[in-house]
Amino acid sequence: MSEQDIALITGASRGIGAAIAVRLARDGYNIWLNYRSNHEAAQAVAAQVRDLGRDCTLLPFDVSDESAAKEALENILRERCPYILVNNSGVNRDGLLFWMSREDWKDVLNVSLDGFYHVTSRIMGLMMQKKRGRIINIVSTSGQTGMAGQVNYSAAKAGLIGATRALAKEVARSGILVNAVSPGFVETDMTKDLPKAEILKMIPLRRFGTCEEVAAVVAFLCSDDASYITGQVLNVNGGVYM
Ligand code: NAP
Repeated sequence: MSEQDIALITGASRGIGAAIAVRLARDGYNIWLNYRSNHEAAQAVAAQVRDLGRDCTLLPFDVSDESAAKEALENILRERCPYILVNNSGVNRDGLLFWMSREDWKDVLNVSLDGFYHVTSRIMGLMMQKKRGRIINIVSTSGQTGMAGQVNYSAAKAGLIGATRALAKEVARSGILVNAVSPGFVETDMTKDLPKAEILKMIPLRRFGTCEEVAAVVAFLCSDDASYITGQVLNVNGGVYM
């Protein structure tokens, strides 16, 4: 990395994305912090990044909205191109497929898959010109095993795993590494209403993961130590899927 390298993290106002932003700031990166609408939470993460001596630029926009992504990124990308892109933003709208509304189906796919496309495709060309970059997509165990009540979410995350592998092949010769990190159950707002006691029985390590444990694996994939890793899915799941 160089002194001026930037990491763009989507969905970084809370949860796993926030921990990734703070961890990469600690590792020396300036941060471009995307989120959808929670300005207060985003400001708090930005303050932590700045306390670590790094710059933090807030980029609030809905990744599923193509024109919003274009508007937010067009000008800033004329000045600089991030070395790291972490596609972390994601939502769940759980329910059995039989009852699932078209809206719940589309929302989940739009944030994960369209969001990946809207942000990554804008940055790709610039990274390719520079012949360096790291892209990390946050997927889920649900996309690997399938999870009842999450047909939309499992489809979105499985799709993102496919996109990770295909893009890794497309850009390897341009010096860009593309990988996915796949958390199991992690303590965040997304999992706060789950029946924890029941779920813990399924996890060999008998606990949920922390956001910092996921961020540490992302940081590894961004590091020089990961220079021969591309197209992979790294599981951070306490053994719930092996
Ligand atoms: P979270 O606590 O619910 O936080 C979601 C973050 O994404 C927030 O910063 C939110 O911004 C942002 N966001 C949501 N929709 C967005 C959109 N359309 N455009 C831009 N930003 C958006 O989620 P999390 O649990 O940290 O999950 C982060 C990622 O890890 C997701 O992709 C999730 O699927 C994946 N994951 C989570 C778990 C888990 O157990 N928690 C397990 C496996 C995978 P606002 O604050 O502005 O709403």
